[in-house]
Amino acid sequence: PFHKSKGQHILKNPLLIDSIIQKSGIKPTDVILEIGPGTGNLTKKLLEVGKSVVAVELDPRMVLELQRRFQGTSSSTRLKVIQGDVLKCDLPYFDICVANIPYQISSPLTFKLLSHRPLFRCAVIMFQREFAMRLVAQPGDSLYCRLSVNTQLLARVNHLLKVGRNNFRPPPKVDSSVVRIEPRKPLPPVNFKEWDGLVRICFNRKNKTLGSIFRQKSVLSILEKNYKTLQALQLSHEGLSDDTEMAMCVTALGDTLGDLSMETDEGKDDNEMEMDDGDTKASDFKDRVIGVLKQGGFEEKRSSKLAQADFMHLLSLFNVAGIHFS
Ligand code: SAM
Repeated sequence: PFHKSKGQHILKNPLLIDSIIQKSGIKPTDVILEIGPGTGNLTKKLLEVGKSVVAVELDPRMVLELQRRFQGTSSSTRLKVIQGDVLKCDLPYFDICVANIPYQISSPLTFKLLSHRPLFRCAVIMFQREFAMRLVAQPGDSLYCRLSVNTQLLARVNHLLKVGRNNFRPPPKVDSSVVRIEPRKPLPPVNFKEWDGLVRICFNRKNKTLGSIFRQKSVLSILEKNYKTLQALQLSHEGLSDDTEMAMCVTALGDTLGDLSMETDEGKDDNEMEMDDGDTKASDFKDRVIGVLKQGGFEEKRSSKLAQADFMHLLSLFNVAGIHFS
């Protein structure tokens, strides 16, 4: 009866559900967004503690089952079920999101939530363990990656609960973790496209020094193209953007990050040529880029060890030097 392709793994352990509810800090006045309610085991308890629940479910059979389950109960008027793909529908207002989601939508869903306005108070979500560990990873941790840096720019992220696969029917192939995501208010005044452009380059080879990453021909040629385009347009980018523009950038990010995209150095061509110094103009530009790294003391640093504030600092130095990532 359950569809593997839809990530249908039903929570069977009532104690675990209680624990998720308790850790969510739901208030009696809260409008709760649930994603993928399935047969409604979590929904039932959400309705007991919150003001109302909006549940988005893709599978029409599950929607029917859910409606049957709550029909005629006192909570039925406080439950609204939307049938559809959560990634494609417009989300309604909500204070808090609590969900046991299908893991294949983890990344785009996270960034869809973070780009939702007005910003919600927090989201408490079950993820595949490794994805969860990537979300919360700190500089120096082996799972620290572009996903960690981008999420933590926009939100505080905490690991709440380890969940073994046997709490689900049918059990998935991997263990899970519940994570709390709390959007930063206000969001940092960063142009998110610029930010992600820089972070993407830095984590493409996260264990190499920035000096060697930024000497790669492919990297320099992209940056030089941006540089020339901007000069031609005589655009002055201040590196700031308004909240709406930022939200658009954040949504786009979820699509490009992919789920559990492995950001290792494996399988990458390590023999890529560094910029040829024979071309004077090109080497001028290279000097400009490396000059910025030197100025901030970044040349010998590696992305795997850089904190949020370091990336912020590096981006502003680049932008001041007229070097842009989008
Ligand atoms: N919340 C239930 C529980 O904990 O027992 C079920 C969780 S199950 C892991 C995920 C649910 O999300 C399934 O009911 C599935 O049909 C639904 N689903 C899958 N893809 C979806 C999507 N794109 N949008 C909304 N719901 C989706």
